Amino acid sequence: MALLTGQQYKDSLNDGREVYIDGERVSNIAEHPAFKPIIDVKARMYDMNHEEKYKHITTAKLEDGEEVCRAYKMPETKEDLTAIRTYVETVLDDLGGVVYRVGDETIGEMWSLYDAQDRLNEIDPTYATNIRNHIDRIAREDIFHVSANTDPKGDRSKLINGEDGGTLLHVVSENDKGIIVRGAKFETAAAYAHQAFVKPTISNWSNTSVNMEPYAVGFICDMGAPGLKHICRSPVGSGRNPENYPLSTKFEEIDTLLVFDDVLIPWENVLFHNSLESAKYIRETVHRYSAFNYVLRLLKRADYLIGAALLNVEQTGLTKIPAVQEKLTELITYRQTINAHLTAAVSEAENTDGGLMMPNQSLLYTGRIHALKHFPAMAHLTRELVGGQLAVTPDMVTMTDPQIKDYVDRYYSVGKWSAEDRAKLLYFARDLLNSSYAGHQVTFELFAQSPPFAQSAAAFKNYDLEAHRNMVLKAANLAPHLVQS
Ligand SMILES: Cc1cc2nc3c(=O)[nH]c(=O)nc-3n(C[C@H](O)[C@H](O)[C@H](O)COP(=O)(O)OP(=O)(O)OC[C@H]3O[C@@H](n4cnc5c(N)ncnc54)[C@H](O)[C@@H]3O)c2cc1C
Repeated sequence: MALLTGQQYKDSLNDGREVYIDGERVSNIAEHPAFKPIIDVKARMYDMNHEEKYKHITTAKLEDGEEVCRAYKMPETKEDLTAIRTYVETVLDDLGGVVYRVGDETIGEMWSLYDAQDRLNEIDPTYATNIRNHIDRIAREDIFHVSANTDPKGDRSKLINGEDGGTLLHVVSENDKGIIVRGAKFETAAAYAHQAFVKPTISNWSNTSVNMEPYAVGFICDMGAPGLKHICRSPVGSGRNPENYPLSTKFEEIDTLLVFDDVLIPWENVLFHNSLESAKYIRETVHRYSAFNYVLRLLKRADYLIGAALLNVEQTGLTKIPAVQEKLTELITYRQTINAHLTAAVSEAENTDGGLMMPNQSLLYTGRIHALKHFPAMAHLTRELVGGQLAVTPDMVTMTDPQIKDYVDRYYSVGKWSAEDRAKLLYFARDLLNSSYAGHQVTFELFAQSPPFAQSAAAFKNYDLEAHRNMVLKAANLAPHLVQS
């Protein structure tokens, strides 16, 4: 196999998958108006890997010389992590917007399992083999791979006690071909991806009873597998005019309730099962690599906030006012703090037991919290700097209507900015901050890599508090037996 082209990717989606949206069973997903824009974006990413201008950034070679997408080669050095960062930034810059579930941000979850091969070998040696085979296959066959974590969980109070809330995905039986699974997951991009890494939901896996073993399962599922149903939410962008909604008509990613109606998962796709220890491990480490690609997206979002705010204050002549500069500095500080976390996560990266190079976990997870926690305030500050025209500007067809164009020109143009250019900037800012799509993105980002409480837990668990305890015990001259070595 080799690197796919955009057209090959589109053709590969015609595999009989069962996709439902807006009361319709989708027949040709690549041409369906709800999916076409984002499928075109993913196709563009595939095509970039074939272009001389980008190849040296977007591709890499495996040990035997096979050329694969840069995003799918596991990081073994700090330079590899930097190359992944350059890959993500180059792709997003070419696209001119931010997309999340397009493969690179989800593959890292498999690398977390790769790091656990020794532990998995103790449970069943075939699991480690399956993981290695899948990581290799994803790279060589250029597979669009997504992530399934979250079940519709039913009664959450049961999960806290490590029990099934009534709806968790589980193994119902097994035979010589594989395991049969039943349940459901929420999953962005599933309807137009090739496969998903399905894993146990966020729950109290450290305190579970053995009757939860059928739920402690991780596997690769083909998105066209018989019995799998993709039930998709309605789009908020499609049907709009791209001139007025430049982001939502291009970058909207569709989320799916993925129902597993007794789906057969062949043994070679089973990464672990009946393994509470593996469920606990994967929940604790799932984002050790993928948070890096995710936070890179939040950095790009910050870049767009700064650009939109800056151009808007420039066109209206506000840039020289110190109070406006101060507000821009707040945005810059937000952006540069994310940048600092990412840069430091690479320079302080750590070797893993599996032989990989992992971004520094504490710096990465605290950077993720910073980026997400302050995003709403930074978006609001951008909204303030853009001004009220963000919300009151008519659409382009009205702005250019010959009957009223003179008024529009008189009241919208400022200096070298024509009314049309000002409108275009305001439409961009609206789609970044105020449209239905902008609102959807805020919710997506809040939950995309687990809810805030789980992100806090990851940051807490990955920070070594011993030094602080011992410093104060020593400085306060407390009893020696309290000092821990
Ligand atoms: C747009 C969108 C796209 C998504 N895409 C994906 C995807 O691609 N793949 C995927 O796997 N999932 C996806 N999800 C699901 C997402 O991961 C979940 O929404 C998230 O994990 C939270 O789960 P929940 O919605 O069931 O919230 P609940 O578990 O019902 O929790 C709701 C809230 O209750 C509080 N809470 C619950 N439990 C605790 C606790 N133990 N401690 C403290 N507070 C608690 C928190 O405030 C929490 O946010 C997506 C969600 C959205 C909104």
